[in-house]
Amino acid sequence: MSGSAVTAEAVNDLAELARVSRVIGSDPALVLHGGGNSSVKTTTTDITGEQVEVLYIKGSGHDLATITEAGFAPLRLKAVQRLLPPVVVPDDRLHSELRCALFDAGAPDPSVETLLHALLPSAAVLHSHADAVLALSNSIGGAQRVRDAVASTCVVVDYAMPGPDLVAACHLAWSQRHGDEYGIVVLGHGLFTGGDTPAEALERHLQVVALAEAALGPVGFPPPPAEPAEPVEPAQLAAFRGALCRQAQQALVLRRDDSAAVRTFLANPDALAASQAGPLTPDHASWTKPWPLIGRDLNQYASDYHAYFEANQHRRGAALRELDPAPRVILDAEFGLVAAGRTPSEAAATAEIYRHTMAAIQRANALGGYRPADREHVFDLEYWLFQQQKLVRTATAGDLTGQVALVTGAASGIGRGCAEQLLQAGACVVGWDLSASVADTFDSPRYLGLQLDVTDPQAVAAALARQVDTFGGLDILVVAAGIFPTSANLGELSAAAWRKTMAVNVDSVMELYGQARPLLAAGYPYGRVVLIASKNVAAPGPGAAAYSSSKAAVTQLTRVAALEWAGEGIRVNMVHPDAVFDTGLWTPELLQARAEHYGVSVETYKRRNLLHTEITSAAVGRLATQLCTESFACTTGAQIPIDGGNERVI
Ligand code: ZN
Repeated sequence: MSGSAVTAEAVNDLAELARVSRVIGSDPALVLHGGGNSSVKTTTTDITGEQVEVLYIKGSGHDLATITEAGFAPLRLKAVQRLLPPVVVPDDRLHSELRCALFDAGAPDPSVETLLHALLPSAAVLHSHADAVLALSNSIGGAQRVRDAVASTCVVVDYAMPGPDLVAACHLAWSQRHGDEYGIVVLGHGLFTGGDTPAEALERHLQVVALAEAALGPVGFPPPPAEPAEPVEPAQLAAFRGALCRQAQQALVLRRDDSAAVRTFLANPDALAASQAGPLTPDHASWTKPWPLIGRDLNQYASDYHAYFEANQHRRGAALRELDPAPRVILDAEFGLVAAGRTPSEAAATAEIYRHTMAAIQRANALGGYRPADREHVFDLEYWLFQQQKLVRTATAGDLTGQVALVTGAASGIGRGCAEQLLQAGACVVGWDLSASVADTFDSPRYLGLQLDVTDPQAVAAALARQVDTFGGLDILVVAAGIFPTSANLGELSAAAWRKTMAVNVDSVMELYGQARPLLAAGYPYGRVVLIASKNVAAPGPGAAAYSSSKAAVTQLTRVAALEWAGEGIRVNMVHPDAVFDTGLWTPELLQARAEHYGVSVETYKRRNLLHTEITSAAVGRLATQLCTESFACTTGAQIPIDGGNERVI
């Protein structure tokens, strides 16, 4: 008998739960980035044919907005109910206990809030951190406002740290309910509603949210600030990011928002002051840190952060002192809202959470003031979350997550190979190319393709500004754009062809280095440059005067950069590829013609080097990427051949 003993009833209930979960998960006013979960209790049969009550609950790390049936973990309901009060399950035992209660050993880890779902008797339970409930709950006098608003529908529980304290508080409140309440509001945390079906639980969820909305009153529309946002100087933002990464001791990308809504918030001293009181719910602190930095004084932030831990050493969350003392949300008069994350998606999620926080702060302020569960609770992160964050901090060697690269000539050939390898190593990559296809050379939130002519200094400046605006800075520059003019012996080589080759292969790089230096100087952990030069530097070819001379000149230029920039910690290295045939320059016909010219097969022609090996764009990309890792932390000004071995070079 196969493992598919699950009954049709269970299959239907789970499908309905997944559908309703996606509805609630797609509404950012209810669920933001993992901040919610859902469950259904149903009956199935086990492998022996015996009936089993099963609780399907959202798997840890799955997002309700996109969840499918596979994202839920089935648990034996009785085995979970055994863990309810008076039994106390400490944080560090919960994971093991829940995994032992699974009906399927291959299931994802059950949500850390599983016990709260088991506690409610309803078949279906939905949980969210709804904005309206949190805004009302976090207003001064909010506890009473919530109690008045939701009285006949939900029991209301004072804020308690997620874990055994919260389970005990909910258990007690539920046992003392008056009549037909169907849900629980946990002040400063969120809303649980139950129903006979997921659809009924959703309908009730929306009812309670509407009650909270009504108690909050209409949303005000404050006038937008009169002045439009000023453009931000890219070097200033990049320098700030560099300092932020150094404080966080990890590479972070930035997401900036200077919309009218953000500037209205920044112009309001009461709103800014309220932001320091703490997050909407402690769960948000894992994205946003406990409070945002106002302005740019990172040292002040770190000293406030350490002072907080000194004052709260007794608390469980104090173990989190090991986490870095750098903000993830910055509210600055010029920059606007700046959110930081290890990836663009993480930074965007953090920005979105904070936009919701700003709206809730303004609504709470309109009711008399914003007072979240209290600032002491901001480190009430779940134990698992802490474990996850520790994992993140032990990144593997060669991992470029959070770093920002620029690759010129990224639409094809070696440039494309470099961009691809940098993306694989986790970096964000901005690709430049003359070809419009650069825009979609790669499909990734970590990639931005810009069509431009590197010989146009204004276009270069605009593209660098766009890069800083998109990802926050520049850590790695790979110069791969270049042209190879038609072969021409001296006497036949035109001055125009010579000048064009020099303009693209040398002059543009001189201009780019000048413009990129301030950004690279702020790079994290320091700036790095890799020039894709050529075997022709050491071993020029007849008929290639312009190309060979241009590559020799740009190599010399780059050696000077290594000398001039070493003081700023910027490492500058060069690679000299040869016979890379999987580029736009080489068509099958051309390869065939060259091979015939030498009287050998195409295969032999491709491997005409001492090692008889084929050199690919990907191989050059791997070398360039390696040069940007800590393996080469002590190397600058180096020239490395990648040509399979060449007697004229060796
Ligand atoms: Zn929750």
